[in-house]
Amino acid sequence: MGLGSFFKRGKKDKEEVEECHIDINTDECDACEKCIIACPNNVLMLVENLSAVRDAQVCKRCRVCVAICPNDCITVN
Ligand code: SF4
Ligand code: SF4
Repeated sequence: MGLGSFFKRGKKDKEEVEECHIDINTDECDACEKCIIACPNNVLMLVENLSAVRDAQVCKRCRVCVAICPNDCITVN
C-alpha cells in the first residue's frame, strides 16, 4: 500500500466516525440529564435544554444511556 492509499483510508475512517451512531429523539427528551450523568465517557451534554451528543468518538456503545432514559429517547447503533 502506497502513501496515497494510506491517506485515502484515513479520510474514509474519519468520514465513518463523523456519521453519528447515537440518535436522540429530542421530541421526547425532558432534559432530566440522567443519560448525561450516567454516561461513563462523558459523551452527552445538555444543549438548549435537550440532550445532545458532545463527542460521539469517545462513545463505547455500552448503552447505559439507552437503559437509563425514562422516555426511551436514545438509540445507539
Ligand atoms: S452508549 Fe455508553 S458511552 Fe455511548 S453515549 Fe451511551 S452511555 Fe455514553
Ligand atoms: S435521559 Fe432521556 S429524557 Fe433524560 S436528558 Fe437524557 S435523553 Fe433526555
